[in-house]
Formats: sequence, C-alpha cells, structure tokens
Amino acid sequence: MKIPFNKPYFTGREAFHLSQAAITGKLSGNGNYTRDCQLFFEKKYGFNKTLLTTSCSDALEMAALLLEIKPGDEVIIPSYTFVSTANAFALRGATIVFADSGTLNPNIDPSLIEALITPKTRAIVVVHYGGIACEMDTISEIAGRYNIAIVEDAAQGVDAFYRDQPLGSIGKLGTFSFHETKNITSGEGGMLIVNDPAMIGKAEIIWEKGTNRAAFARGEVEKYEWVGLGSSFLPNELTAAFLYSQLEHLKIIQEKRLQIWQEYHSRLSTPATEGYFSLPYVPEYARHNGHLFYITTRNSGERDRLLAHLLSNGIHAVFHYLTLHNSPYFSTLHDGRKLPQADRYGATLLRLPFYSGLQSDEIDYVTTMIRAFYKK
Ligand SMILES: *Cc1c(COP(=O)(O)O)cnc(C)c1O
Repeated sequence: MKIPFNKPYFTGREAFHLSQAAITGKLSGNGNYTRDCQLFFEKKYGFNKTLLTTSCSDALEMAALLLEIKPGDEVIIPSYTFVSTANAFALRGATIVFADSGTLNPNIDPSLIEALITPKTRAIVVVHYGGIACEMDTISEIAGRYNIAIVEDAAQGVDAFYRDQPLGSIGKLGTFSFHETKNITSGEGGMLIVNDPAMIGKAEIIWEKGTNRAAFARGEVEKYEWVGLGSSFLPNELTAAFLYSQLEHLKIIQEKRLQIWQEYHSRLSTPATEGYFSLPYVPEYARHNGHLFYITTRNSGERDRLLAHLLSNGIHAVFHYLTLHNSPYFSTLHDGRKLPQADRYGATLLRLPFYSGLQSDEIDYVTTMIRAFYKK
C-alpha cells in the first residue's frame, strides 16, 4: 500500500466556478467571488472584516504593515512555527524574540510570555498548532495589561475554536492559509481577519497597493489615488472561485477530517498509554479542526528510525518545523536563550499522512505499521 502525506480534496464544483469566473470576464481581484468568500467567513464566524490574500504569508505581512512595525520594535513569536510567522515581522525590521512551546503541546507557553516583554514589545504572535487553540485568556490578559497587539497566525485554524470563539477572531488581527496542505485550499491563498474596526480602512489600502481603490469600487470616493503604503496582496478571481467551491464543502471536509483524526487517536491510544510515544494534547478549551495528526517519540533517533520504517513501507510520514531560533538565517541573531520544548518538538514530532480522502483501511495500515515498529 502506498500512502502519500497529502492529497488535495476536490469537491467536483471547481471547474464550474472557475468557468463562471472566466465567463464574467472579471479576472482581477476584489470581484464577486472574492466578496462571496469574504462574506461566507464574515457570516459564518462573525468576523468583523476579512480580506482574501494570495497567501497566509502575505496576510502576516499585511498585519506587520497595519501595526506599523518598524526597526527596533520587538515581536514575541513561538520558535516552533513556519518561517512566515517570523519573516513577515523581520521584513519590517522588527527584533524577533522567540518564545518556547509548552510541555503538553507545541503551542506557545503563556507562562513564559510576560518575562519577554520590554517597553519595545509591540506584538505577540500566537500560532494555533494543528488547529488546537492556544490558551488565549491568559495571553489576552497579559497583552491587555501591557497594551500589546495580538496577531493570531491561524494558518491551520480554519473552523477551529477557543471555547466559543473561532480562531482568528480573538487577536487584533488573524490570518488563515489556503495552501494545498491546509483543510480548505485554493492551491496558494490566504486571508486576513481584521477584528479591530479602526483598522479596516487602512487594511483595504494596504491590500490595494496603497490606494483607496476598494472605497472607489463602492462609490465612496470619486477617484482612487495613492493614499498610503501597501502592496498587491489580493488574489485574482480564479483563485477566489476555486476557494468558493471548497467553502461549499467545508462541512463535509471537516466531518471527514475529524473522523480521520479520531480514528488515528483511538487506534494509537493503547501503545501511547503504554508510553511508547505521545498523542496530541487537546486542552478542554480547544475545539480543533482535524488539521493534522502527530505523535511525539521518546527521542529524535527513534523518530528518524520510525520515519524510515514507515517510508520503506510506502507511508509518507514527515517531521515538521525546525526551530527558527536555530535556523541558518536567525541563529546568529538569537539572544542565546534555550528553548528546550520547541527543540524537543523539532526533534521528536512526526506527522502522519492526513487528507480528507484518507480511508479507514489506510489508517489501519499506517497504525499497524507504527505498532509493528514498536513490536506492539
Ligand atoms: C501554512 C502556514 C503558513 C504559511 O501559509 P501560506 O499560505 O503558505 O503562506 C504560516 N504559518 C503557519 C503556522 C502555517 O501552517
């Protein structure tokens, strides 16, 4: 049996919506499909304002521009995350202050944040790893006390919740990714969620190359002009049309993914209870979205041997992030603090094949091969 790590899910409606977008002849951004996608999210999750972007990386860069991050500003970011979370702020000249993960899951450890705050701290960026919410009450309380903005990198967090609040709706700004590996996709794509009403106008200007074209399109101004800094962050209508077809199946996709997650969990719970490896920890306040399934091994050698064992049996499992404070770009810029939990996830975390079309017999095969490795 050969099992890839990821297979994009097709709803069967993509070609219809793509041809609809083409027939209208409006291919550039901020057309009907863009608006329909944004409205979908605003209605379903109560987001104040959403803007589709060409990627989550771009949405994070918009967040850094919106917060007017400049050289000398400090931004607190978990080290165990994707490059873009930090790169977006480093691009604006910020000093990145990396934080450690918790002991129970890879999310930022809220108890370590306050000690990292200085008068220069401008933002705390949280990453909801695997769509499992960070402990937002504690983080919001600290950020509020010091008047620091929270940005949620909810790239993996579509349709996941912290208590009753959708991920992406809790910080001043939130970001989603629609990359091929995420729950819903447009190949490449993303979205900025603007929760602070005072930032909406400026967000639209940044989105549209520093112009007030969005206000012009609504007939609010007579001409559009260069009114601020920005770039071209909006996707074309074909991307939005593809995404729209996925949104029509969001419920089906989410049901499938949660079922797959549960199946992995129950098939691996016995060897996990016996201490061979750990399963994902989902706190009671987190309602996750079945974005990924990982185990953590007892040490890095065992993780690498298990990966090789699975690969030789046709199963494409993968490791995940290499900690950013140790990266070739950043290691000489890091202040030298040890981040042991982040490093532990970098060394021991292993992700299993996960996509909406994964079948029960395939999950059975993967988990049987894991148990065979441990002779269980
Ligand atoms: C996928 C991902 C990104 C980047 O998303 P793109 O849409 O590929 O730019 C950023 N942060 C996290 C946590 C991610 O998982």
